[in-house]
Amino acid sequence: MRTTVGIIGAGPAGLLLARLLHRAGVDCVVLETRDRAYVERRQRAGILEQGSVDVLRECGAGDRLDREGLIHRGFELRFEGEAHRVDLPSRTGGRTVTIYPQTEVVKDLIALQLGGGPPLLFDTRVVAVEKADGEQPLIRFVRGGQGGRHGREGTLECEYVAGCDGSYGASRRALPAGAVTMHARTYPYSWLGILADVPPSSDELLLAGHERGFALHSMRSPTVSRLYLQVPNGTDPRDWPDDRVWDELDVRLAAGNWRLRRGPVLAKSVNGLRSQVIEPMRYGRLLLAGDAAHIVPPSAAKGLNLAFGDVVTMARAFTHWHRTGSTALLDRYSDNCLRRVWQAQFFSHELTTMLHAAPGADAYDRAMQLTWLRRVTGPTAAAAELAENYAGAPLV
Ligand code: FAD
Repeated sequence: MRTTVGIIGAGPAGLLLARLLHRAGVDCVVLETRDRAYVERRQRAGILEQGSVDVLRECGAGDRLDREGLIHRGFELRFEGEAHRVDLPSRTGGRTVTIYPQTEVVKDLIALQLGGGPPLLFDTRVVAVEKADGEQPLIRFVRGGQGGRHGREGTLECEYVAGCDGSYGASRRALPAGAVTMHARTYPYSWLGILADVPPSSDELLLAGHERGFALHSMRSPTVSRLYLQVPNGTDPRDWPDDRVWDELDVRLAAGNWRLRRGPVLAKSVNGLRSQVIEPMRYGRLLLAGDAAHIVPPSAAKGLNLAFGDVVTMARAFTHWHRTGSTALLDRYSDNCLRRVWQAQFFSHELTTMLHAAPGADAYDRAMQLTWLRRVTGPTAAAAELAENYAGAPLV
C-alpha cells in the first residue's frame, strides 16, 4: 500500500486529521489497532472548547454536536463550603465550552470517514515505523486476528507519517534515543472516576478544592453524570464501594443547601495524573500529535482540545506543502504547537495544584491554596486569566 500521509491511530487526533486532509485533497490512510466498537465506546474526555467546536462544525462534523451538545457558560469553584461561579462569556469576549463526550465526537468522525472519506483500517496494529529520517518512511503493520496480534503482515509507504496513536503507541517507540527530550511529571495522587445513571445535580461543572482532596461533578448528557474524587496513588477501586464514593462526594462538594443526586454506578476506575511533553514533536518525517506528543492531567480538560489544536496546525502545514511544495509550515510545526502545549501544561498544572491536597501538606500549604482560590474567584485579573485559559484560544 502507498499513500501521502500515513496516520497511526483513530482517536480524536487521527480522525480529525484525516477529515481535514481529505477536504484539502491530501491522500491519507488511517491504521487503528482496535475494532470500531471498542474505539467508539472508550470513555474519556467530555469538554470541548469553543475552538474545538468551531473546527468540528467547519469540517462537517457539527450537526449532532449542535443538537445534543450542552453549552456551558461557566463553572463553579467550591471551597470552605462556599460556591463561587466563574462566568466565561463576560470574561472571555463571549466564549463558552460545550459538553459533548469524546465517544460521540469519535462516532461522528468515523461515520463521516466510512461514508466516503479516506481508508480507515480497524484491527490493524502498527508494529514499526521505519526510515522516518529518510524521504520515504515505511509503516509496518499486522492486520486482523485478535487486536492484530495473529494477523497478516503488511506495509504502508508514505511521504509523511502522522503519529496519533497515544502515549503507548508505535510512534513513540520509533523515536531513536537522544532524538527528542521527554519532560515528565507524575503527580502524587490519582482520580477515582464514576459514571452514574442519574441526571446531573447541577447545570454546570463543580470543581471542589476540599481539605480532604479534590472532587469534580461533571456530566456526559442530561441523564448521565460523571464524578471524580482525588484518591492516593495505588488505590484499588474495589476499596471504594458505591456508598463510600457517594458519601465522600457529598462531603467534598458540599455548599449551602445543594444536594447531590445518587444513582446506579455504571463504571468505576482509578487513573493516575501525569504531565508529559516530547520536544520536538517531530523526528524526520514522523510528526506527533495529541497524546502521542503530550499528556496533561485532566483537571483543566485540555487533552482532547490540545490534540485538536495539533492536527489543525498539522493539516494546515500538509496542505501548504501539497499545494506549493514548500515545507516551511511543516518545519515550524513543532514550534507552533509547543507554544500552545506549554501554555496548557502550565494551566493544567496550576489548576491541579490549586485544588488537590498534596500528601504531607500542612496548614501553611492549605492557607496558600485558599488565598490562591480567593484570588481567582474575586474581581481580579487572576480571575479573568483563569476564565481565558479554561475557555481556550481559537484554533483556526
Ligand atoms: P487517543 O484517544 O489515545 O487515540 C489513539 C488511538 O491510537 C487509539 O484509538 C489507539 O487504539 C490507537 N493506537 C494505539 N497504538 C496503536 C498502534 N500501535 N497501531 C495502531 N493504532 C494504535 N481529556 C480531557 O480533556 N478530559 C478528560 O476528562 C479526560 N479523561 C481521560 C481519561 C482517560 C482514562 C484517559 C486515558 C484520557 C483522558 N483524557 C481526558 C485525555 C483525552 O481523552 C486524550 O487527550 C485524547 O483521547 C487524545 O486523543 P488522541 O487521538 O491523541 O489519542
